[in-house]
Amino acid sequence: MKNQNDPPFLGELSYSSEWHSLLRPHMWKIQPYSSARDECKDSADIWLDANELPFGDLLNRYPDPRAMEVKKAISKLKTWEISNFLLGNGSDECIELLIKLFCEPGIDEIMICPPTYGMYKVSAQINNVIVREVPLNSDFQLQVDEILRLTSVNTKMIFICSPNNPTGNLMDRLAILRLLNKFKGIIVIDEAYVDFAGVESWTSMIDEFPRLIVLQTLSKSAGLAGLRIGICYARADLIERLYFIKPPYNLSIAAQHITIKALKKIKKLRKFWAKINAAKRSLFNELTNMASVIKVYPSDANFLLIKVQNANHIYELLTKNGIVVRNRSHEPLCESCLRISIGKKSEIRQLIRVWKNLDKTFKIE
Ligand SMILES: *Cc1c(COP(=O)(O)O)cnc(C)c1O
Repeated sequence: MKNQNDPPFLGELSYSSEWHSLLRPHMWKIQPYSSARDECKDSADIWLDANELPFGDLLNRYPDPRAMEVKKAISKLKTWEISNFLLGNGSDECIELLIKLFCEPGIDEIMICPPTYGMYKVSAQINNVIVREVPLNSDFQLQVDEILRLTSVNTKMIFICSPNNPTGNLMDRLAILRLLNKFKGIIVIDEAYVDFAGVESWTSMIDEFPRLIVLQTLSKSAGLAGLRIGICYARADLIERLYFIKPPYNLSIAAQHITIKALKKIKKLRKFWAKINAAKRSLFNELTNMASVIKVYPSDANFLLIKVQNANHIYELLTKNGIVVRNRSHEPLCESCLRISIGKKSEIRQLIRVWKNLDKTFKIE
């Protein structure tokens, strides 16, 4: 008898199950921790199975490991199948889980395209997974040929961030499609800022591309960074494998509870996204006219990347005036660049006032 946890025979590997051969071999043998709540899903009146204290009305109990009520709310909102996604403690946890599932420490590699989100590299390094880098080109787009040239059988995953942090731009769709067609490993598309871009999500493509994984998060556009809810979207059988290694209680009852309540008001968010985009356009125009600003890059996200004459100096002056931005000067292609999140109208007005003041000391070069 073949155990369902054995690796599939080669003959069984259809196109649709291609990700199987990329899994770390020992992952086929892992049995997930079976929590008290996993083993009995029936409703009951008396719960004496988890060594909880019986006093209290909500937080004395362990949370649902699969956060089903939250998942139902998200699935309704996005018209997704429940089986196609997993919720992480932020998408940062999803990144960590994916690296653990596919990358053998000391042997396998991930590929990233800097400048990009920092956690891909950090997570890989923590797991002793090699990080290969192919920088974006000068238009902040993927160098597909170079990426394909530098991948090997050990390159398990390419992380693509679109819209990209910190550059703010969407990655060219055809470039991503070329990678999906040519690269034999997993392609992770991080869509943390997709709602601000107003484009279609890559989640609709997983039937066509079984090795595609899409990350989203409630931290940015849904305004719930403090709750830590990240979403990993992929084929149902891959998601089920991720559940094997997910810490059982990664989302607290408090987080699940508040998320369900917050998602009921999600329709209001569209108004906020429009406001942010309007404020972004006005900040773009204001900064473009400053002597200290060399270039404001177009952005599909809720932040702007700005090349200035002296990033460290301007960063210091802003900080002295109580305004904190992100100094990205040390990142490749981001020399002398600051990243500014789009705040409230009043905050942006204050930023512009301070900047105009400090701008007087700069001359147009
Ligand atoms: C902010 C950010 C995240 C982190 O999301 P969490 O869900 O808060 O962990 C992931 N990816 C990108 C590109 C981000 O900018």
